[in-house]
Amino acid sequence: MRFSFCYIPTLKESPADAEVASHKLLLRAGMMRKLTSGVYIYLPLGLRVLDKISKIIREEMNAAGFQELLMPMVQSADLWKESGRWEHYGKELLRFKDRNDRECCLGPTHEEVITDMVRGEVRSYRQLPVRLYQIQTKFRDEVRPRFGLMRGREFIMKDAYSFDMDIATAEQSYKAMYNAYQKIFQRLGVRFRSVVADNGSIGGSFSHEFMVLADTGEDTVVFCDNCDYAANMERAEIRWNGNDSELSCPPCENVDTPGAHTVSEVTKLLRVPSAKLVKTLVVLADGKPAGVLVRGDREMNETKLKNLLKAQDVKLADVTTLVSLTRAPLGFAGPVGLDLPIYADLELQGDTDYIAGGNKADTHMKHVDLHRDAHITAHADLRNIDSSDVCPQCGGPISLKRGIEVGHVFMLGLKYSEALRAAFLDENGQERLMIMGCYGIGVSRIAAAAIEQNHDADGIIFPPPIAPYDCILLNLDPNNAEVTKTAEKIYARLQQFNMEVLYDDRVERPGVKFKDADLLGLPMQIVVGARGLARHVVECKDRRCGERGELALGNLDADLHQWASRVRDGWKTSV
Ligand code: ATP
Ligand code: MG
Repeated sequence: MRFSFCYIPTLKESPADAEVASHKLLLRAGMMRKLTSGVYIYLPLGLRVLDKISKIIREEMNAAGFQELLMPMVQSADLWKESGRWEHYGKELLRFKDRNDRECCLGPTHEEVITDMVRGEVRSYRQLPVRLYQIQTKFRDEVRPRFGLMRGREFIMKDAYSFDMDIATAEQSYKAMYNAYQKIFQRLGVRFRSVVADNGSIGGSFSHEFMVLADTGEDTVVFCDNCDYAANMERAEIRWNGNDSELSCPPCENVDTPGAHTVSEVTKLLRVPSAKLVKTLVVLADGKPAGVLVRGDREMNETKLKNLLKAQDVKLADVTTLVSLTRAPLGFAGPVGLDLPIYADLELQGDTDYIAGGNKADTHMKHVDLHRDAHITAHADLRNIDSSDVCPQCGGPISLKRGIEVGHVFMLGLKYSEALRAAFLDENGQERLMIMGCYGIGVSRIAAAAIEQNHDADGIIFPPPIAPYDCILLNLDPNNAEVTKTAEKIYARLQQFNMEVLYDDRVERPGVKFKDADLLGLPMQIVVGARGLARHVVECKDRRCGERGELALGNLDADLHQWASRVRDGWKTSV
């Protein structure tokens, strides 16, 4: 493609609201534009990236025995009411009414639609398994759309669904998808890991996430340094071996802590380590208040709490609710005398002589023995794992890394088939429910994640498999007949080799072209200029490592092949 014919509006500066590299670079490289919050126009180069990603996904999905279909974006509320999610999904579900006053929503996911279709069609075990997928635009009215394509409101997802007659075949479907995902992310050329993920509180289910490792990731992933354990922080269990120390705890008493409402303020004032404090968090679980206790140096884990309480939604109570329940301002809640169900983290079963909020302004309590002084409803694993913990599988040391969730495979079990009565008749004529799995990949998020992993100060460095073009060919002097003739000849030759080429034939200064070439991040650059031609060569650059070389005009075909494979292979070994 000739650059002079293209719509590639590159920018010198990144827009002020872009925080992370992929967001800045996708805008600067003229690959996308924002329409409104979390909603983007994919410009031609950006669309080529999405098409490359989708092509690899399609090939592997088809190879795994899944068939493509395309479902509508607009869905009727009736199905969502049947599954119970109309009520529970929350504000991410964009709801509206049509002209006949019928309630509808924009699909954030398609379990309801596909289950409804399959239940109407499939009657016998002979028709199972059903394995389908689509690549389609989703809408989720995210609370905090940010980071460009990483967390959009409108985004492209590949979603797949499997329906099986029994657990054994359902596990085969799951495995087929898990393996296909391994191949997909390998082929995409990103550095990734699959990790054990949260599966909510659905019995008989399990799930894995595929994470692209990058510092800007919103998820934290836990890896064991010794064994193969890898899990999302949401889910990583904590091994607690009890605590034998038998401290005798003096009677508890109030202590003045004027203005100290954070852990660090209290520890400074009372000169104690934060592990001696108990944090009391008041939460609303599906609207019902509860107290949660974790040690002062720990973080509560919302997912674990949600699963324990079997709640759809857990959030910290707003200040007004907190004040009315604890009769104290924010920062002074404590477990003693708190008239709420109280859930305490496992490690608080152990030694017990703590400092906690006094449920009174500017007051804490010391010598709190949780067994003696508080009414704990239950102890459970309710906190985030941290680097001082050990691997729950082998007891070895762990490390924490940031990751971007690009894929998710989920064994759903009966969740939707039960709610929507997706049943079939088995070999004995008995009615049974189908066992489902669902499998998502964030197509547009992958484009962002790949750039988070691969960029430098000058721009994007595309993994070759998803680059919008394989190569950019720079004509440094379009007004020079000799240079142009050679550039045109190389352009034609590259196309004959089935290489996808962006030919920069613009009448622009060489500096502009070099800058744009680095910004766009195509894997290989070929530079045709008068100086090289005098020596019968053109210059070549590998965008990833910056290595430069020359292609001899007299040996053009062989030299081109050699460079192209060097760039490709260099990438493979660098992943
Ligand atoms: P997250 O935890 O990041 O919100 P999720 O668990 O809600 O994701 P799934 O419902 O599993 O996401 O969706 C499947 C895939 O779709 C995710 O693995 C992710 O790659 C992608 N995805 C989800 N939400 C968004 C979004 N707002 N913008 C872009 N991609 C998204
Ligand atoms: Mg997920």
